[in-house]
Amino acid sequence: MSKKIVVFGEVRDGELRNVSFEAIAAARKINEDGEIVGAVFGNEGLEEAAKELIYYGADRAITVQHDSLKNYTSEGYAQAALAVINDENPDGIVMGHTAAGKDLTPKIASKLESGLISDVTEIEVTGDNVVFTRPIYSGKAFEKKIVTDGLIFATIRPNNIAPLNRDDSRSGDVTAKEVDIKDIRTVIKDILRKTSEGVDLSEAKVIVAGGRGVKSKEGFEPLQELADVLGGAVGASRGACDADYCDYSLQIGQTGKVVTPDLYIACGISGAIQHLAGMSNSKIIVAINKDPEANIFNVSDYGIVGDLFEVVPKLTEEIKNLKV
Ligand code: FAD
Repeated sequence: MSKKIVVFGEVRDGELRNVSFEAIAAARKINEDGEIVGAVFGNEGLEEAAKELIYYGADRAITVQHDSLKNYTSEGYAQAALAVINDENPDGIVMGHTAAGKDLTPKIASKLESGLISDVTEIEVTGDNVVFTRPIYSGKAFEKKIVTDGLIFATIRPNNIAPLNRDDSRSGDVTAKEVDIKDIRTVIKDILRKTSEGVDLSEAKVIVAGGRGVKSKEGFEPLQELADVLGGAVGASRGACDADYCDYSLQIGQTGKVVTPDLYIACGISGAIQHLAGMSNSKIIVAINKDPEANIFNVSDYGIVGDLFEVVPKLTEEIKNLKV
């Protein structure tokens, strides 16, 4: 059945986050023959972002530009999103399962009195049914859901659904929509960035994560070097964050970020269940630990029993040599 799906793209620092393109690919899976409408919100430079959504598979795009949308607030973005939804009356809405997606979509779903399937990792179409797979119990099991009636509303976990190929010969209408954004009670005065520049942890294809075994702030340096040669990001266990070896923004796990990179290299991490909750769905897991009994080896595809301070620099060197 041909449907219309609205995809909310996410612009950060003037750039669309990659998960926006994955959300378009997800919408296309749900809606092979129908219309995909991209939408982006912000205070400037949205035209380019809207075009990118079209290059990645949207049929047309809508921008909502307003000074109050400079930074994400659930009140401002919900007003913009609801205005687009009211105009478009879509059969489905898709967005990335990011911090903003997790905050915004339940608010919209409650306003629309619709359901919401969050944190989707896979979409299959079987006959007339669109089947959404999502992890439950901190990733220990998966459930499959279908929408039997009403709006299809889903958030997509980053790095799970491959984006479509970018095609800049694609064209489509970009419409600027005026929305009177008002009554915003939350004002963002300033944003203090805690993580350094570089690859975003939640979208990274490669993550090199350190645990208490890294032993100090300086102990993270070889991990950063390995991440750099692999074009990846550095993450951490809560053990490492609690010990003040790194910032909490790097924490992966039940109470940290949930990540699904292609390659996760766990260095000096024991593999507590709360850590596994955030990374066990990574495509390939490599563990480096000097304790052969460490639980992390039970979830890893490749295990190296050894001292991370010997193994990690050797790996970095070997990978550098491969690249020469
Ligand atoms: P440890 O368990 O101390 O493991 C260190 C490992 O390093 C050991 O296996 C050791 O063999 C190895 N090692 C030491 N030296 C070396 C070396 N030179 N070379 C190689 N290996 C070495 N944890 C999270 O990570 N994320 C969460 O989100 C999270 N949420 C939590 C929520 C709750 C409610 C609770 C109760 C706990 C939570 N935890 C979380 C904490 C979790 O239970 C563990 O305490 C934590 O993950 C342990 O961190 P670790 O593996 O770095 O440290």
